[in-house]
Amino acid sequence: MTTGRKKTTTTRKTKKAAASSTGRANGRSSTARRTSAASRSTVVPGADVVIVESPAKARTLSRILGNRYNVLASIGHVRDLPKSKMAIDVENDFAPDYIVPRDKSAVVKEIKAATNAAGTVYLATDPDREGEAISWHLMEAAGIPEDRMRRVVFHEVTENAVRRAFDEPRGIDVDLVNAYQARRVLDRLVGYRLSPVLWSKVRKGLSAGRVQSAALRLVVEREAEIDAFVPQEYWEIDADLLTQATQAEEFSARYRSELGASRQATIPNEETTNRILTDLRASSYQVASVRRRETTRRPGPPFITSTLQQEAFRKLRFTARRTMTVAQQLYEGLPIGNEGPIGLITYMRTDSTNMANEAVQEARAVIGNRYGKDHVPASPRSFSRRVKGAQEAHEAIRPTSFMRDPESLRNSLNREQFNLYQLIWQRALASQMADAKFDQTTVDITASGAPSGVSHTLRVTGSIMTFAGYLAVYREGIDEPDIDSDEGRVLPDLREGQPVDLRNVAGTQRFTQPPPRFTEATLIRALEERGIGRPSTYAAILSTIQDRGYVDKADNRFRPLKLGTAVSGLLSEYFPQVSSLDFTSRIEEELDDVARGEREWVPVLRDFYGPFNERIDTAQEKIERVSNIDEETDEVCPECDANMVIKRGRYGPFLSCSRFPECRGMKRIQKGTGANCPECGGELVQRSSRKSRRPFYGCSNYPNCNFLTNQEPLPQPCPDCGGLVVATSRTDAACNDKECGWQGSREELTAEQPQPEPQLVEV
Ligand SMILES: [Zn+2]
Ligand SMILES: [Zn+2]
Ligand SMILES: [Zn+2]
Repeated sequence: MTTGRKKTTTTRKTKKAAASSTGRANGRSSTARRTSAASRSTVVPGADVVIVESPAKARTLSRILGNRYNVLASIGHVRDLPKSKMAIDVENDFAPDYIVPRDKSAVVKEIKAATNAAGTVYLATDPDREGEAISWHLMEAAGIPEDRMRRVVFHEVTENAVRRAFDEPRGIDVDLVNAYQARRVLDRLVGYRLSPVLWSKVRKGLSAGRVQSAALRLVVEREAEIDAFVPQEYWEIDADLLTQATQAEEFSARYRSELGASRQATIPNEETTNRILTDLRASSYQVASVRRRETTRRPGPPFITSTLQQEAFRKLRFTARRTMTVAQQLYEGLPIGNEGPIGLITYMRTDSTNMANEAVQEARAVIGNRYGKDHVPASPRSFSRRVKGAQEAHEAIRPTSFMRDPESLRNSLNREQFNLYQLIWQRALASQMADAKFDQTTVDITASGAPSGVSHTLRVTGSIMTFAGYLAVYREGIDEPDIDSDEGRVLPDLREGQPVDLRNVAGTQRFTQPPPRFTEATLIRALEERGIGRPSTYAAILSTIQDRGYVDKADNRFRPLKLGTAVSGLLSEYFPQVSSLDFTSRIEEELDDVARGEREWVPVLRDFYGPFNERIDTAQEKIERVSNIDEETDEVCPECDANMVIKRGRYGPFLSCSRFPECRGMKRIQKGTGANCPECGGELVQRSSRKSRRPFYGCSNYPNCNFLTNQEPLPQPCPDCGGLVVATSRTDAACNDKECGWQGSREELTAEQPQPEPQLVEV
């Protein structure tokens, strides 16, 4: 009953919006650019039509379905909220007023023409809320009649999955669409109401989003923890010991405690260290105990979106955004040999670790063939995880066929695609392999006989892998290096009661470390642990807080800028709805409920908007103007020698004296590029001319060297010739030497070479 009512209200409201918006769009269609894939397809009259969101997916699907179907691409959403106004009718149940944007009217017109001539129209957009919404917008905007429309859902673009989906079509899932709409409307309300507050209190042109503000808060709070951190001194004592044999073996043991103490002692200062060292230097040593035990290690589950993003950062230095772009290429299909475009992985936006039974069976067969029967566990592994939004993506990210091993694709994929595919293939395969086994040894050594009468204990541990199991394929990356790891440390064969000789003993002063700044990997994990963000949003959250100038990265770690700290402080004081971590995660859960059909979407909006809106009004009165948001620099003022700060003027950022207005010293920002001049080896710097505001790049040795370029020089050398590389667009780069001719993506240049897997010896 509930779902029925919901369905009718949604349809009625949006029909109205659709009618007005298509009218508007049609009036403009003659001027719209014809860039759609739809315009290039040859439409067989009367054939069934299939619509997807991207040309690459359309090509793969077209190969699978053959001539009976015309496969068209909508190129993303065909309707959205207009940019020029809020377009939410708050008084009327938050009804959104969608329009067909100018650049989409041509594609809508063509889809309309194709569907009018067609038998059945299949909407085959991606299997999640966003995909459902794209289908729904298509249906509304192109006026596809409900009785001729079929929604088909598959998680991989493969023969079997597509056939199965076409055998079991359904209607539009209104719950998924409403969950999508609720998020879109919430974010729109926050953006439109909050931005003016930031403009009047902080700086013109700022904006703040809901989920991004929670992420910003994490970065700002971590920085505050680091600033407040007081390092504690402590000492470590290490002894080099020798076995008493003709071929003496040396090993190192760490001081643990006085004899008989049950736990590791903390050595607070040099005085204590020296007292212990005096004892140790005058002691004789004996092996007190040797404990051996076998430990096992289980493989992790196959990737979900968040773990893929984390691991691709650790191992390939991909940003979350890069990971999603490349994963989408693998999912939508790439030309492989003579086979045509093939979908290589399952859908990349998912939070389920489940793997289809057929895939598990195939993995077990591949493991047995490649690594031997002993690497196949007795029964398949299953990984349980709370699955959110049960109607959405059901499967982990895995290869569509384990038979397609990475090596066989090396010539068909570019380097980034290959590296990411290999990571996904290895991780999914490893998840079905046997445990790794280790022999772990713990040896305690007693030092006794010192004149003080105090005896001490030292300890050494070693760990040797005895069976590789899944580690033969895959080893998870680490965020912070563990220098004290005992893995692979081989100990001499020690027996209880055996005397050993002291060769050397020394103390080292250490200090406790503050928590580290977040990397892309650790920030995504922190967001996930707190229930903030979803598979479809992590990558966008991370880029947004950087694009807005709230945080930047130093050594690949997030660090808040003054502006970000100021905005975050203001939001957490006045707008808990926007910056509170608990609040944000609760709304994410409510949206999950909406997607499952367990909650109405309008009340979610109402509960949020009421209190939020009240605060906007009081905030405008109460909040004082925030100052001191200018980033400090090491540049020195030409007038008074004070430090300079970065200010934003009408023509972009410039350096101003920090003592402004007392001192009016100013400087142009001369931005170093980190690249060297190909003619004289000097540094290339950004300059701007008076006439045009477009920057250009010149040599720091000007006027002695006249090298000039309009394209931004990049600090990385050309992978082919080692020469200068320039940016040709926001994402692409090319060698400055036309004869070399290298071209590629900018991310590819900055990505570090993948770390080789540590080689393990099997004993
Ligand atoms: Zn000055
Ligand atoms: Zn030069
Ligand atoms: Zn080159």
